[in-house]
Amino acid sequence: MSPTPKKIKLAAGNSTLAIHWSDGHESAYSYRFLRGKCPCATCGESAPLQDQVLGGLPILGQKPLQPERAELVGRYAVQIYWSDGHSSGIYTFQYLRGLCPCADCTAAREVENPA
Ligand SMILES: [Zn+2]
Ligand SMILES: [Zn+2]
Repeated sequence: MSPTPKKIKLAAGNSTLAIHWSDGHESAYSYRFLRGKCPCATCGESAPLQDQVLGGLPILGQKPLQPERAELVGRYAVQIYWSDGHSSGIYTFQYLRGLCPCADCTAAREVENPA
C-alpha cells in the first residue's frame, strides 16, 4: 500500500510545504521546487522557460511564489493553487512521495535508478 499524507502543512515562514505521511515519513518541499515540478501539461511543455523564470531572482512587484491554498483531489492527490495564478497541477500522493528531497529518499531513488 502506498503511503498517504496524514497532514499537509504550508509553512509561510520558510516557504516549504511539509507532508507527514501515513508511514511516519516526513517530507519538506520548497515552494519553488514544487512549482517547478508541476505535473500539468502546460508546465511540461514550457519547462525550459519555467526553469528560467523560477531560477531567477524574484521580480519586483510580484507576489512571492507560494501556494494560495491546497485542496485534496479525491483520495489520491492534492491540487495546489499558486500565487502566480496557476492551479492546473494535480500532484498525486505517489508523485509527491517520489519527489521527496530528503537524504533517505534520494539515496533510495539512486539505488532504484542508477544514473
Ligand atoms: Zn502547471
Ligand atoms: Zn523522504
